[in-house]
Amino acid sequence: MKKTILAIGAHPDDCDISVGGTSALWAAAGHTVHFASLTDGSRGHYQEQYLRDPEELVLRRRAEARAACALIGARYHCLGITDGEVVPNVESLRRVVRLIREVAPDLIVCNRPNDYHRDHRYAARLVLDAAYMLTVPFFCPESLHMQQEPVIAYWWDCFHEEGRFRTDVVVPIRSVWETKVAMVAAHESQVFEWLPYNMGILGEVPEGRTERLAALQGWLRARHAEFAQRCDLPSGDPVEAFQISEYGRRPDDSTIGQLFPR
Ligand SMILES: [Zn+2]
Repeated sequence: MKKTILAIGAHPDDCDISVGGTSALWAAAGHTVHFASLTDGSRGHYQEQYLRDPEELVLRRRAEARAACALIGARYHCLGITDGEVVPNVESLRRVVRLIREVAPDLIVCNRPNDYHRDHRYAARLVLDAAYMLTVPFFCPESLHMQQEPVIAYWWDCFHEEGRFRTDVVVPIRSVWETKVAMVAAHESQVFEWLPYNMGILGEVPEGRTERLAALQGWLRARHAEFAQRCDLPSGDPVEAFQISEYGRRPDDSTIGQLFPR
């Protein structure tokens, strides 16, 4: 049976970097995939022009996210919160509840609430805060409440503060690796500009398109290898891993088998 999956990140590139491979597999299997970012991405750069005109960066990042989603036929949603300013307040909770009810997913994937970035932490907090409220008719009564909560799964990370990531589901993504790389590469303002600047390696970004893609492949391979090692997974073919949240609907093994690619 076809499923609907909603990946929710704080920023326009979060879903592609974390679950681009699994999402490509979901889409190839005929499931409906939605990516959402809570923020507009307006603080994710260093060049003067974007400080003077943040809207220019917002539009650029929205186009990048849409281009990445188009590679697998996913739909992109942006809740428009100012980048760097996600707060787990009631107004943001209402926006998240309305989005989830509109998409009506069987499964939500997001980062864990102990991530290094404040926007990531509070994005996860908002998803968890939304879980039960999705079924409460009088909360945001203008949108149709859900009969049951979706399953919520966290995408993998390396953080140990407040507990290590627990590997419940492993998805091999070898067959869609090039698609994942292309999805991440669509976020040019990030992977070739902002992130190298922030990491102090801007001078190492090659000029040519082919060389840039090769460099990005190397970065992603190293990231996957580090994550695999920290999560005690074999470091061979690339995988993405998930931890089933205690919040949301609790799935049995059969449901997990239907929700995740094998
Ligand atoms: Zn992010």
